[in-house]
Amino acid sequence: MADTHQFSTLGFIGLGAMGKPMVVHLANKLPPESKLYVFDVFEKVVDDLVAEYPGRIYKGTSAKDVAQRSETIITMVPEGAHVRSVYLDPQNGVCSTDISGKLLIDCSTIDTATSLAVKDHINQNFPTASFYDSPVSGGVVGAIKGTIAFFLGCAESDPNLKHLTYLATLMGKQIIPCGGPSLGLAAKLSNNYLSGVIAIACSEAFDMGMRSGLDPRVLYKVYGAGTAQNAICDKFCPVPDVYPEAPSTGGYKQGFKVELMKKDFGLAVDMAKRVGSKNVLGDVGLETYENASKDPQCRGLDSRVVYRYLGGNEDWQLKSNGA
Ligand code: NAD
Repeated sequence: MADTHQFSTLGFIGLGAMGKPMVVHLANKLPPESKLYVFDVFEKVVDDLVAEYPGRIYKGTSAKDVAQRSETIITMVPEGAHVRSVYLDPQNGVCSTDISGKLLIDCSTIDTATSLAVKDHINQNFPTASFYDSPVSGGVVGAIKGTIAFFLGCAESDPNLKHLTYLATLMGKQIIPCGGPSLGLAAKLSNNYLSGVIAIACSEAFDMGMRSGLDPRVLYKVYGAGTAQNAICDKFCPVPDVYPEAPSTGGYKQGFKVELMKKDFGLAVDMAKRVGSKNVLGDVGLETYENASKDPQCRGLDSRVVYRYLGGNEDWQLKSNGA
């Protein structure tokens, strides 16, 4: 099985903030004989890529068209409803053509139930096709730099793992097999739940410390040295001008949008309820991200803007400079 997929024809559906840079890596790094077939409902992005990579990237007219012309198909669309439509639309979906023997990889962050429903449909109708959930982490900057991580819904013993790993390393740095179908998504959602909760807790902790008279740079060192040490504080510090490369320092402009955090947090809370996991921070966290997404001061910005939403002081340097 592993050697049947040589990536001579590869399809990519969904060329947004994440998908487009992932395709660019594939176009630059796949063997010279490989052809890429791409499709997005937003036609201009398809035309632009085809113009940029003549003889390498070809225009697909639908998800079905891409599936017909490609042995391996990657999808990267926003939500479960889009994934259903891309795969299951009876006229134009991937599964409306014969996909026997093909390798299908969905990198979208969606609910596990939709992913399993698509996989079941494929297993029943095309038993020799292989479908995997493989959400990614690392954001748009990671997709551009080629440093994203893939959380793959399969076991370490999966016969396609070698090929999946090869493909993933063209677009990113790490691939973690999570055990079985939909477990890549379960891993991603639990990761983003944890990251979202930490961002709120970190914002509150900075705020209470700063209101008590502490300089946030001192707090940053304290958290880093103490038991509260965490990556959100270290690299994505919600308080501006503490860590130079944090999105907050650039006005929360680059990063992981608060709307996406709201979506993933909501999916994680739903998953927790479905599997009977007690979840005391879930509802309050979700409400916080829902409200921050609606707040005109926060929407469209990096999710660590939750510090602003909670009333944190962003101009602390004026005070520490004696202004
Ligand atoms: P995006 O909205 O920028 O891009 C999605 C693309 O899918 C768009 O170009 C849209 O036109 C296309 N699309 C929608 N429906 C389609 C259909 N039926 N057929 C073909 N194309 C269709 O979203 P994004 O930021 O690229 O995110 C994609 C997925 O990756 C989401 O599930 C998101 O949660 C996840 N993700 C995003 C980030 C991030 O930082 N942006 C990080 C990790 C994971």
